[in-house]
Parts: sequence; C-alpha cells; structure tokens
Amino acid sequence: MAKHIFVTGGVASSLGKGLAASSLGRLLKSRGLRVTIQKLDPYINVDPGTLNPFEHGEVFVTDDGGETDLDLGHYERFIDESLHRDSNATTGSIYQAVIARERRGDFLGRTVQVIPHITDEIKHRIRRLATDDTDVVITEIGGTVGDIEILPFLEAVRQLRKDVGRDNVVFVHVTLVPYLGPSGEQKTKPTQHSVTELRSRGIIPDLIVCRSDRSISDGLKQKISNLCDVPVEAVVSCVDAPNLYEIPLALHEEGLDDYVCRLLHFDDDAHPLDLSAWEGLVERIEASTRPVRLGLIGKYVNLPDAYLSVVEALRHGGYHHGADVTVEWIQAEEVEGLLAEGRLRDLDGIVLPGGFGERGIEGKVAAAGYAREHAVPCLGLCLGLQVMVIDYARNVAGLEGANSREFDASSPHLVIDLMDDQRDVVDKGGTMRLGACLARLQPGSQVAAAYGTEVVSERHRHRFEVNPRYRARLADAGLACSGVSPDDRLVEFIELPGHPFWVGTQAHPEFKSRPDRAHPLFRELVGAALARAEGRAPRLLAVDHLERTRPVA
Ligand code: GLN
Repeated sequence: MAKHIFVTGGVASSLGKGLAASSLGRLLKSRGLRVTIQKLDPYINVDPGTLNPFEHGEVFVTDDGGETDLDLGHYERFIDESLHRDSNATTGSIYQAVIARERRGDFLGRTVQVIPHITDEIKHRIRRLATDDTDVVITEIGGTVGDIEILPFLEAVRQLRKDVGRDNVVFVHVTLVPYLGPSGEQKTKPTQHSVTELRSRGIIPDLIVCRSDRSISDGLKQKISNLCDVPVEAVVSCVDAPNLYEIPLALHEEGLDDYVCRLLHFDDDAHPLDLSAWEGLVERIEASTRPVRLGLIGKYVNLPDAYLSVVEALRHGGYHHGADVTVEWIQAEEVEGLLAEGRLRDLDGIVLPGGFGERGIEGKVAAAGYAREHAVPCLGLCLGLQVMVIDYARNVAGLEGANSREFDASSPHLVIDLMDDQRDVVDKGGTMRLGACLARLQPGSQVAAAYGTEVVSERHRHRFEVNPRYRARLADAGLACSGVSPDDRLVEFIELPGHPFWVGTQAHPEFKSRPDRAHPLFRELVGAALARAEGRAPRLLAVDHLERTRPVA
C-alpha cells in the first residue's frame, strides 16, 4: 500500500515548500522508491489556466493537457516523472465536482456540507494517486497554515491519517526561521506559532523543515524540538542554496530522508540510497562556468516566476555545455529603443517565450528580426514562433502589415490565425490546444538534428496557429516549416536554413527539460550562443546532420 507524506507551510508564503517536497521526492526516488507528487491549491479558480502570470507565475502544462501550478514543474524536474492533470487540485475543482454530483442527485435528500462532502472529495483526490505501482504519494498543500481557505484540506488529511493508519502517513511542516539583523538572532517564535496553529487543527507535525538564510545551530534546533514537541532529529535546517538542485543533498545531510524512511518503515537494506547521479549533476553544475548571456524578451519580466520553466531549461542547456547562463530580462516594449541604442549587441542569444495579448508584440517581432539579420541564435516558444513568422512575413516575404488575428484582426495578411474549431469558443478555461501533440520533423532539418529523431511529442498551450494559406509563400521566401502535425495541417516548427540557430516551435519544450537531460532545443540554443560568445564559428547543425545521416550507397 502506498504511504503518504503531507507537506504544509507556515509563517509565510513562497517559502519553497514545493522545492522541499520535490527534494524529498528526489531522495526517496534515489532509494528506488516509486514516488509521485501532487499539489492541492486552496483557491477557487478551477485551475490556474485563467490566472494572470503576474499573479501566479507560470502555468505548467502536463502531457495530458492539465494546466497546473508551477510547482509541478519543480516536481517533474526533481523526480523526473511526467505528472498529470490529477496531480493538481484546487478548491474550485473540488467544489465543481461535488456540486456536479449534487445536481445529478447523488446526495438526494441530504445537506451537502464542507464536512464530510468536500473533505471526502479531497481525500478521494489524494487517494486516487495511491495506486498499486506507487510507494509514496507526496502531497503539498498550498497556502499557509492559518489561512481560512486551507481548513478543509487540513481536516481531510487529518482524517486520512486515521483512515490509512498512522504508520503510513508523515506530516512535514515547512516554516521560516528569520534572522533579525539588529539583535543578531534567529527567531523561533513564528515557527512555534504556526505549529500551534497546525496542532489546533489536530495535526501534529512529524518533521519541521526550517527555511532560513543561514544555518540553524544545534542549540536552536533543540529549542524548536522542545517547544514544538518533536524529536531534535526531526528539526531539519534548509538554508537558501546557491542552486536549487543542491537542496536534496543538503536535506539529506540533515537526515531528512533517513528520518522519513524510519517513520514509514522503509528499511535501508531494502531501499539503499544511491545519490551518485544527483551528486554528479551538482558537480557538473558547479563546474559550469563558461559565461553566456541570453536575452529573454518578455512581457512579464518583472515576475521571473512567469518564465520559470524557460529559465530552468536555459540553465539545463548551460549545464550540458559547462556554461553559466546569465538571463537578461528584457521588457518586450523596450526592445525597439534598446536596439536603436545598440544595447542588445552583447547578447549571445535570444529567447522569445510564450505569452498572450498584444502588449510588447512589436518589440518581440523586432527582436526576432534583429536575431535573424545578425546571426544571433534565437529560440521562439509558442508565441515566440508566431512573432518569428510575423517578422519573416513582413520583412522577407514582403507581406506588408502581416500579423496575428490575436493582435490585429484587420491585418491584410493574417499569417497567424485561429483554426476553424477555435472560432466559436466562448469558455475561457481549458479550451486551447493543450497537452502533448506529435510532430513530424523534416529529415535533415536543424530540429531533426537537434532531437536526433524525426517524430517528437511536445506540450502545447495556445489558440492560434500558422495560417496554412501562407505556408507556401513563406516557404518560397526561404522559411522552412521543419516540423508539422502528423496530418500536415499545423506548423509545429520553423527554422531558417543557413542561420546558426533561428528556430521556433509552436509547443512549450521548456516543460520537458531536465537538469541532467537538457531539452535538445535549449541545448542547441545555448550551444550556438556559447559559440558566439567565445568567437567560434557556428556549427551548422543540419549540415552536420546531413553528413552523418547520408545513406551509404
Ligand atoms: N497567444 C498565443 C496563442 O494563443 C500564444 C500562446 C502561448 O505562447 N502559450 O496562440
């Protein structure tokens, strides 16, 4: 039977609960345990798909088209498993399910209430992940203990411990131990208060993970142990790490996984820890010092979390080449001014990430054009591909005023348009092209060379597509549609033959990148940018590829 670990947070939001959960997942997986992770979010949106990235950061898309919380990105990158839409549940989705059953008459005659109906549904969401092929389900509860919205979740997991047996459940509470400069002290009071709050809901934490900007002394751990009624070995210090991927190693040093395994009766002989691969990764990260600067041209650059997976994928590309990627955050609306002043000249590469809405579009088109004309490596993701096509249409194919219907429906050349099945969509939730789609890559193309294969699957999240009516015009002007949907209806990848790397994809490959397995497109982007940074001649991917794959007569 699968065991459960619940991760709650106290004192403040954004404590890095997600990273603590992910790191614990990594440690357990490194013992050969089969781990899955999920997030329960106490807000009323049915999923984060309709949330503004400024408010909530990136929407992470799963293979099955779930629009989920960005913590799922951390989970996937740390435990290296593809998660699914069921790996994220919100208060909104839970109420929606209960209300749908009420309307169907499932509760006929009874009053539908938070307890037991909502709490039962929460328990159902948790237990459905505890399948026969899972040893451990880690459930992170979003929000902070003490919030009104979190109460049904706490009540549900309190009950669940009784339902599945005490030996099968561990409660991990992540808190903040702030350092007060003037008194030169680290303070435990906020931790005590949040543990008291948790206990008032009937949950006694088994472990307390203390987030802090400096390490926590044994004396302080003893104090937390006494005041919060946990053994001292259950107080784990988690200091800000220079690199996210070091956190599992730091938590292991603190004894986190040993203690959790003891509580859950996973014995060391049956599940010995092998962290060598992860240690190798961290060593590689530490040795990644070759400088390379990539400009990320976005609309939400004031909130870097809006591009979390893109930035991680760039870093992964860096680790592959031993490069230390510096991301320059560039506000799309400022690009034209920066270009005029020559201030983008020292970028070694450009990323055009996904996005919605008109603001900043002309800046992104200008950045795509600048990269194209100056042989600057450039990767366009979803909206990024669309602006590359707009640039090419206007400035090379002679289609004056070309645009996307999303930004200017009256454009004479709608090179990016809605497909027929999207025209009448009114519901804004979950109605885009979502999740994994296959693409066929053109043999001998740069993208086929990068992937090393000619059929690929990537995750999507968009409404608009390259307008099929313009494909021939664009191709005649030299733009290669180097990847298409299996039925040839949709353009999935574009590239510019002869350019070191000017590649766009209609998908979001950033979601599938892993720290020890950089996504091919990010790997090649960073490789090309590094060549530029180091003054080496670009290696034309597709030419190499043609040489390598030319059939022997
Ligand atoms: N706004 C564009 C579309 O809906 C691109 C979306 C994206 O970049 N994820 O097609």
